[in-house]
Amino acid sequence: MIRGGKGILFVVSAPSGAGKTTLLRRVVSRLPGVSLSISCTTRAPRPGEQEGVDYFFISRAEFIDMMREDRFIEWAQVHGDLYGTPRSNLERLQQGEDLILEIDTQGARKIREELKDGVLIFILPPSLEVLEERLRSRGGDSEEAIQARLQNAQKELDQMTWYDYIVVNREIEEATKELASIIIAERCRTARVLKA
Ligand code: 5GP
Repeated sequence: MIRGGKGILFVVSAPSGAGKTTLLRRVVSRLPGVSLSISCTTRAPRPGEQEGVDYFFISRAEFIDMMREDRFIEWAQVHGDLYGTPRSNLERLQQGEDLILEIDTQGARKIREELKDGVLIFILPPSLEVLEERLRSRGGDSEEAIQARLQNAQKELDQMTWYDYIVVNREIEEATKELASIIIAERCRTARVLKA
């Protein structure tokens, strides 16, 4: 009768620099019962990033081995590096915990089309100017990488139409509340509460 069993799978995408990571950390620290999926990547860590907290930083060879062994639920190449969600991360859903995948629009599409699951949320920066400012202030990326990320941002923005929700990250506290509200509302859906 009451919501039990499976947790809810949330998929959150945003152009790099939209403030998605900060926002998600705030939501997860405030809301019990939801956690972030940690992806594997072949990209080098940025200053301050930690192994097993931000990503599992692995070599291309290790990534390809995992792909061959079918250990990713989805993977994609973004800005020349490989990123993937380990299949084992989804086990938390079986334990009734909600899970957030912080992945790009290619990965989101795979989850929607292949798993036929997921509540899809797009985080929008207030403007492309703010996005550029945030990308530059983050440090650790070359000018070439920043330009590639800005170009990719435009392509990512074209994809937001098929997401279920859009949160504009104008002000962090307001955006945190909006994102938390979406998670709470999804937990209250009749079909989820009244599970046969
Ligand atoms: P960044 O290098 O800035 O951390 O991430 C670059 C992009 O890769 C972001 O759009 C991020 O959401 C995406 N990304 C991170 N992990 C994954 C993943 O496991 N799968 C996919 N498809 N995209 C990911």
